[in-house]
Amino acid sequence: MTIAYDAFRRDDYNSLGDNEFRALVQRFLAENHPQDLRHPAKRLHWEQAEPWYMILSGVGWLAPNWPREHGGMGLNPGKQLIYVEEFEKFGAARTPDHGMMLLGPLLINYGSQEQKAHFLPKILSGEHIWCQGYSEPNAGSDLAALRTEAVLDGDEWVVNGQKIWTTLAGDADWIFCLVRTDKSGKKQEGISFLLIPLDRPGITIRPIINLELDDEFSEVFFDDVRVPKENIVGEVNQGWTMAKNLLGFERIFLGGPRQASNALAKLRRLGAYYGILQDTGFIDKYAGFRMELEDHQAFFSRISDKLRRGERLGAEVSFLKLNQTSLYQRVTEYGLELMAEDGGRLEPLGGSNDLAMPTQFLNARASTIYGGTTQVQKNILAKAVLDLP
Ligand SMILES: Cc1cc2nc3c(=O)[nH]c(=O)nc-3n(C[C@H](O)[C@H](O)[C@H](O)COP(=O)(O)OP(=O)(O)OC[C@H]3O[C@@H](n4cnc5c(N)ncnc54)[C@H](O)[C@@H]3O)c2cc1C
Repeated sequence: MTIAYDAFRRDDYNSLGDNEFRALVQRFLAENHPQDLRHPAKRLHWEQAEPWYMILSGVGWLAPNWPREHGGMGLNPGKQLIYVEEFEKFGAARTPDHGMMLLGPLLINYGSQEQKAHFLPKILSGEHIWCQGYSEPNAGSDLAALRTEAVLDGDEWVVNGQKIWTTLAGDADWIFCLVRTDKSGKKQEGISFLLIPLDRPGITIRPIINLELDDEFSEVFFDDVRVPKENIVGEVNQGWTMAKNLLGFERIFLGGPRQASNALAKLRRLGAYYGILQDTGFIDKYAGFRMELEDHQAFFSRISDKLRRGERLGAEVSFLKLNQTSLYQRVTEYGLELMAEDGGRLEPLGGSNDLAMPTQFLNARASTIYGGTTQVQKNILAKAVLDLP
């Protein structure tokens, strides 16, 4: 299939009116999204997502949040929201996005010119698929306790240790890792941010099967893995500040309305499938969720605006993540309740992925854990907003 990419590319998407931009996104999705990948019941692996990734890459729409000069769409927050809304409404497949959503913005802020020139284009071309190596068996919420260490030996870092819960590690070519490069001071002070190619000798990836019976995440072991010295991002031992910054991006991404809005659209289709769209019980619940989602979107827009103006974000990012994931879970819980005995089946109802609520319910369970657990977000809000000890 030849795709008329030029019909969708614009020099400045932000100069389009909102309705015009929305119509452009809708037309692009309708004409180009692979039909068999719509409304995926599970997170797609690279081999499944690749065709869609390459279409987005071809049109230059992979990184809505990156500046134009680095190959992104340079969308302002309002346009980003429309982009996300339309992708969710359509049931567009989520592609591997650790490169676009997490590493890319970090490199744009902290990477050297060489790192930006080398890595950013390879994310956009699909040549490098990234995964995130933060968590370790004894360093999740208490991330600064991480023990995977990198020791300089000549022009190379020698890495030893273990990461865990590494999403899509089995599909990735590279991992960005937090590693300990100094054990002498406070635990936050001796951490560096290292880029590691996953094809190096000494790396073992062992899949973990999740509740959806999928090998979505893995353990990653490093045994005397040698990595070039220049693969450190920023200063040695200054990785903690960047890591926290990156967690901020992640929480903004996870706090966006994407998941809850997708689940709510699915809930409505389930209502239609069971013929209860006019039932007052259903309407009450659905309208309540819909209003919560509208509130959340308004809040998300405000935060995104602040970000665009270059203002510092504080604890509100924690609220964003907390609120979105809570709504996401409650919508899927109600969806499962509606399905009654159908809710026990992992295969999609009527063979249609756009009704696959049980897998979405399971997926929603994890959302209050990754990216910083609900309890951790509450602790942050308690300290920063309520001034509790
Ligand atoms: C689906 C999924 C995908 C993931 N993908 C990745 C990935 O790609 N890369 C990566 O690096 N990590 C990933 N993670 C790991 C995730 O970041 C950690 O699971 C998370 O940070 C929690 O750490 P933990 O699992 O060690 O739990 P722990 O930190 O051990 O927490 C256990 C429980 O104790 C609570 N708790 C801990 N400390 C406190 C406290 N101070 N106050 C109150 N309660 C507390 C927690 O809220 C939680 O309920 C993923 C996790 C999931 C579920």
